Amino acid sequence: MFQAIVIDKQDEQQIAQLTQLTEEHLPEGDVTVEVAYSTLNYKDALALTGRAPIIRKFPMSPGIDFSGVVRESQHPDFAPGDRVVLNGWGVGERHSGGLAELARVKGDWLVRLPDHMSLRQAMAIGTAGYTSMLCVMALEDHGITPDAGEIVVTGAAGGVGSVAVAVLSALGYKVAAVTGRTEESEYLQSLGATSIVDRSELEGKLRPLAGERWAAGIDVVGSAMLANLLSAIKYRGIVAACGLAGGMDLPASVAPFILRGVTLAGIDSVMCPKPERQRAWDRLATDLDMEKLRAMETEVPLENAIETAAKLLAGEVRGRVVVPIN
Ligand code: NDP
Repeated sequence: MFQAIVIDKQDEQQIAQLTQLTEEHLPEGDVTVEVAYSTLNYKDALALTGRAPIIRKFPMSPGIDFSGVVRESQHPDFAPGDRVVLNGWGVGERHSGGLAELARVKGDWLVRLPDHMSLRQAMAIGTAGYTSMLCVMALEDHGITPDAGEIVVTGAAGGVGSVAVAVLSALGYKVAAVTGRTEESEYLQSLGATSIVDRSELEGKLRPLAGERWAAGIDVVGSAMLANLLSAIKYRGIVAACGLAGGMDLPASVAPFILRGVTLAGIDSVMCPKPERQRAWDRLATDLDMEKLRAMETEVPLENAIETAAKLLAGEVRGRVVVPIN
């Protein structure tokens, strides 16, 4: 028997509860992992609350990421005892996920944990942090260097935002942190933000082009926020867009693209090819200050994960939520 959160559907209603399963409940896969830690990402919170149709098959354990130790493997790249991390690939959506003591997945989905990173650190980072690194890599690949000017990060007090601020700062960039929680200014400055921007400044009426303010941006909000960011990016800058915390729409004009050569880069962590994932995790091991990571994490036991999901969606959770499992 092992403990797991399971989401089921009854009379068109989703019900999430902590329960006991046996190994026969595990899905197909060539590697079985003893999950050490999982987390609550925005998508997990949507799944646990039923606020969006994240879960595609019922019953299903949620949890789009986990770190753990291989228990059994039929995959040539993994052996019992290996430390691994998993993000995405539909796990916690179409394939049972990490909010459970045991997970069975395809070995092709697993990434080997960098040597100097603990299982806990891996999930303090989680999918949110790994996505932040994919965003930072997109900026670097576009040629944005620290001398280009300030980088703007939205949803800065959240998971993706907090890790993005810390990584950019460690790499020598100046960082403008956009937040609706200006009471978190001290926290954001401790992560390395050089200026704080009140979210309300970027939610207002759109101008096709505003003054050139930031060299590049990382956006988790979407909608008017992303449109306003694009219009304030400097000539030939870039915005890496990964989120929809403020909405799915994009009420923008083409002016920043055709008059300033601004690039809008889409970032997807779920189906991201394996070499890029491994590169992101290796970079996190070297370019994220683990002391700062500690300041971002809140620990939530598995039995409290369901109630914490609603708080996360209400914007009441700072940084990252770690869920110890085994
Ligand atoms: P969090 O809830 O931890 O952070 C989101 C932050 O966005 C909040 O803390 C808040 O920051 C800000 N925010 C929330 N609601 C609004 C709003 N209505 N308008 C403006 N800002 C808002 O979530 P995560 O960091 O885990 O995820 C952030 C986003 O990134 C989500 O949309 C998620 O789905 C997406 N994501 C996408 C991935 C991908 O592969 N593309 C992977 C991982 C995440 P503050 O309080 O500072 O204003």
